[in-house]
Amino acid sequence: MHMGTLVSITAVGRSNTDANEAINAGFQEVKRLEQLLSTWIPESELSRVNAASGQRPVVVSPETMMVVRRSLQVAEMTEGAFNIAIGPAVDAWGVSAEPRLPSATDLDAVKPLVDLRAVHADVWERTIYLEKPGMRIDVGGIGKGFAADQAVMAMKKAGAVAGVVALSGDIKTFGQLPDGKKFSVGIQHPRKEGAVLAEIDLQDEAISTAGDYERFFEKDGIRYHHILDPNTLQPARGCQSVSVIAREGVWADGLDTGIFVLGADRGMELVEQLDDVEAIIIDQTGQVHISSGLRNRVRILPEVDGGAPVP
Ligand code: ADP
Ligand code: MG
Repeated sequence: MHMGTLVSITAVGRSNTDANEAINAGFQEVKRLEQLLSTWIPESELSRVNAASGQRPVVVSPETMMVVRRSLQVAEMTEGAFNIAIGPAVDAWGVSAEPRLPSATDLDAVKPLVDLRAVHADVWERTIYLEKPGMRIDVGGIGKGFAADQAVMAMKKAGAVAGVVALSGDIKTFGQLPDGKKFSVGIQHPRKEGAVLAEIDLQDEAISTAGDYERFFEKDGIRYHHILDPNTLQPARGCQSVSVIAREGVWADGLDTGIFVLGADRGMELVEQLDDVEAIIIDQTGQVHISSGLRNRVRILPEVDGGAPVP
C-alpha cells in the first residue's frame, strides 16, 4: 500500500535478477514520491506548502514542481474542472477520513480557498506559494498517474524491457510481453462490483479511471462520492466512470478527474481535440461513450445483463 492505494508492479527482464531489481526500483520510486506528495505525511513537501499558505513560498523538488505544473495545465485544458486547490472542500466532505454531508455554510466558507489564481508555482525559483491562508492543494486526482510514470522510468533504468505499474486504477505499461503480446487491461463496470465492462490492449500507454463507485456513501438514496465540481463543491454528477488512455499517466490521471467533472459531452469534445488521448466515458444514465481513436481497439464484453447499454 502506497499513496493510499494498492501498488502492483510486473517486470519483464533478461533474467530473473534483472526483473526483480526493476520491481524493487519501481517500488522505491513510488515510496520516494509518496514522501514528497502525500498530504497525509506532515513533513512531505506538499504538506509544507499547505502549512505555509498565506505566509510564504516553499522551495520544492523538481518532481513536486512537475506535478503542480501539470495540474495547472490540466486545469487550463478542462476550464477549471480539474482544480488542485480543492483540498479544503475535500476535507469538508471528509473524503479521506470520515465521510460527512457538509452544510451550505461549511462549503461557502471554503469556497474562496478553492482558487487556482491564488496558486503560484514559480518554475525558476522552484517555489510554490498559496496566497490565501487556509488554502490546501491536493494532488489526489493526478499524483498516482505521475508516480506510475516515474516508476516506469526507474524500472527501465534498472534494466526492465517491459512491465506494468498499477496504483489501483492508474496503470502504466511499457514494452511487450515475451510472447509479443500487449498488456490487456479491463475496465470495471461502474454498477456491478467485480464485473468487467470492456477490455483493451495497451503498449507504451497509460490508462487511468475515475469513478463514483469506489469511494462513496449514500444518504437518503443519494450517492455522494469523492470527485467534486469546483463550481458547486458538490460531487460531480455527469458520469459514473471515465477512463482515459494517454502516453503518460500524469495526463491520463489528471484528465480522468477533470473530464469526470466536465461530463460526457464536453469531456468527449475535449478528448477528440487532443492528440494521443482517448477515453471511455460511462455517463450518468449508464450509456457508454467511446472516443473515435478507440472504437476499433476496445472490446465491450457481451455478458453485462441489464448493465450499461452498448451503442
Ligand atoms: P482515485 O483513483 O483516488 O479515485 P481520481 O483520479 O478519481 O483518484 O481523483 C479523485 C481525487 O482527486 C479525490 O479523492 C480528491 O482528492 C481529488 N479531487 C476531487 N475533485 C477534484 C477536482 N475537481 N479536481 C482535482 N482533484 C479533485
Ligand atoms: Mg485522476
